[in-house]
Amino acid sequence: MSIGFIGLGHMGGPMVANLAKAGHDVTGFDVVSVACDQARQSGLRVANTLEETVAGCDTVLTMLPAGRHVLNVWSQLVSLVPERTLLIDCSTIDIDSARQAHAMAAAHNCPSLDAPVSGGTAGAASGGLAFMVGGEQPVFAKAEPILQTMGKRIIHCGGASMGQAAKICNNMILGISMIAVGEAFVLAEKLGLAHQALFDVASVSSGQCWSLTTYCPVPGPVPTAPSNNGYRPGFAAALMLKDLDLSQAAAEVSGADTPLGRAALRLYRQFSESGGADRDFSAIIDMIRAQSVDRRG
Ligand code: NAD
Repeated sequence: MSIGFIGLGHMGGPMVANLAKAGHDVTGFDVVSVACDQARQSGLRVANTLEETVAGCDTVLTMLPAGRHVLNVWSQLVSLVPERTLLIDCSTIDIDSARQAHAMAAAHNCPSLDAPVSGGTAGAASGGLAFMVGGEQPVFAKAEPILQTMGKRIIHCGGASMGQAAKICNNMILGISMIAVGEAFVLAEKLGLAHQALFDVASVSSGQCWSLTTYCPVPGPVPTAPSNNGYRPGFAAALMLKDLDLSQAAAEVSGADTPLGRAALRLYRQFSESGGADRDFSAIIDMIRAQSVDRRG
């Protein structure tokens, strides 16, 4: 396939490298010259303009910070590419912008997908991302082999914007569950229960969850978790805050009552604003611990 890839940041850079490695004819583009230079250094073709990037492409992917960037780029793209060009947005964006992007593409007769990812920069580098995809089934079938060169699990979640819906629902579970696990470890500390003992029980009991067994927020029980690495991300708290913001915006518009999602948003905002933004999101346990009261003696 001949592919244009727009947004060569932390995620887009390694994703585009995997597309090229799989033999696709890829041209990348970014508005920031450092990102372009890095991509060029790793042997990728990088264009100087959006127009140059998509010339002759049958597929265009975007991996951008937020909804406004996607709408800005897609509004230009649709007038640059021929009808039937496949447009795929892999960014994590709000539901309304995702719907608008699909509508823009449809108005120009271009099939489109929202395909946000999980797996972080490590997954992007290893080609191990999970893609949550929204759009029509035949469009999904056409895109699946392309996404498989960057990801291990490619899940069709339904029509337009359902990939974004799946992503923000999943990350709302993750944000809430990480706080729950952090609170449990802090309570255990107060009660004199060892971290390893709580882990040994909860990891095989009804408290079992990904935040505990894969990303345990205290050092020791899960050696690969960021807690053993000074809470270097991993998945930065700023990105968790972004996703919780998106899920609460969607809850408000749709009328879903999500009090724990709301509380998680408030706590991650507080954590980010007090210096935690660039730490792994599991470091929120430090804030929970710091806010606890010493009642000994
Ligand atoms: P990033 O900021 O590193 O990269 C985004 C890139 O888009 C930047 O290089 C920026 O210069 C470029 N850009 C912005 N506007 C542009 C435009 N008009 N034209 C061309 N390029 C433009 O962000 P990232 O970490 O790569 O994340 C990208 C998306 O993936 C976000 O939506 C994020 O929420 C999502 N995501 C990130 C992670 C992660 O761990 N970093 C994990 C899952 C999902």
